[in-house]
Amino acid sequence: MSLSFHIEKAGGRARCGRLVTPHGEIETPVFMPVGTLASVKGVPQDTLEELGAQIILGNTYHLYLRPGVETVRRLGGLHGFMAWRRAILTDSGGFQVFSLNELRKVTEEGVTFRSHLDGSAHFFSPESAMEAQIGLGADIIMAFDECTEYPADRDRMRASMELTARWAARSKKYFEAHKSEVPWKQGSGVRGQRTGTSIQSRAPGIQCPVDGRSIDDVPRNADPIVTDPWPLTPGPCSTQSLFGIVQGGMDRELRKESAERTIEIGFPGYAIGGLSVGEPRALTREIVESTLEHLPAGTPRYLMGVGTPEEIVEYASLGVDMMDCVLPTRAARHGLLFTSEGKVSIKQARYAQDQGPLDPNCGCRVCQRYSRAYLRHLYASNEVLAQVLNTIHNLSFYLDTMRRVRHSISLGEVRFSF
Ligand SMILES: [Zn+2]
Repeated sequence: MSLSFHIEKAGGRARCGRLVTPHGEIETPVFMPVGTLASVKGVPQDTLEELGAQIILGNTYHLYLRPGVETVRRLGGLHGFMAWRRAILTDSGGFQVFSLNELRKVTEEGVTFRSHLDGSAHFFSPESAMEAQIGLGADIIMAFDECTEYPADRDRMRASMELTARWAARSKKYFEAHKSEVPWKQGSGVRGQRTGTSIQSRAPGIQCPVDGRSIDDVPRNADPIVTDPWPLTPGPCSTQSLFGIVQGGMDRELRKESAERTIEIGFPGYAIGGLSVGEPRALTREIVESTLEHLPAGTPRYLMGVGTPEEIVEYASLGVDMMDCVLPTRAARHGLLFTSEGKVSIKQARYAQDQGPLDPNCGCRVCQRYSRAYLRHLYASNEVLAQVLNTIHNLSFYLDTMRRVRHSISLGEVRFSF
């Protein structure tokens, strides 16, 4: 089993369901925190688990440059390397490479680009992007695509869409031939995690002063991990899943054709790429809505790189199952916090004496413990803790928003807003 998707309830166009991956189940619609360099900046993995993140993202371009795919592969893939046993999705590297502008050159074969770190030259093709993503070992990986710039004329959008279609076929061909090379197959587990209790070796014969039992019989560290549903190692038959990406710029007809051509190649899930590249929000919505009509109902639909809390709710209502965005984590590092009462710019002097919680309706550990005044002080003092706490709250707000969206759909509600 590599991937299965079950729709449990639909309300209007929205649906909630379960995406089963080799590293656990994901409740959909889902928001996926972005962990560019095998790290969701400022947030330890155990805190991500506590927040209820069931899947996170890694960026192939960044991990390819540093620490390098071979290093990650030898250390058990991303799961082993970063000690994260839940699901991971990696992008193909295409979006980042195309963001480099002057540093890249596109041919039929692939893209030559220069590292933003040291200017060194590199080459990504559909085949090498698959090789990198297989080495990184995420549960879901993405076909190599060209992200069409905005604005672009129709000829340019068509040529770009057709290149993406040809690259999708090459991505799939390479993936099918090499998917057994995923690092899970090579015996690398995830460090520091157990699925059962253990009796650790220690000096024999010491008795418990209370009940007289030898303490060698008492399991140590009987912690909550015992009941954790996420498997330490995936089943022997499981492997990665490759998703296709629909492009076509801001043209509805080209998007339809791209969807049809991608579906013809055949993938277990489909993404809508090339949006949030500078176009007006109303246009993003129009393209999302029209493209969704052409995607199969029974497979997961992933909208890449969006959006604000209001937008992720709206896209879920249109029938999107998976979303990711750097917004909650990046904004948090700049002191911009999303709350049930609207956006809060914590740097403002008006919060300097504010003893209230950041968001009175938020149950996260930050809102339960700290005042706005303290968060404002940390930010103004440039304390590292400011970034940590702000990010934890913003992620909690996003994940909680999606939790409530799923609840609304499960109750059969057609329209919802938070
Ligand atoms: Zn909070």
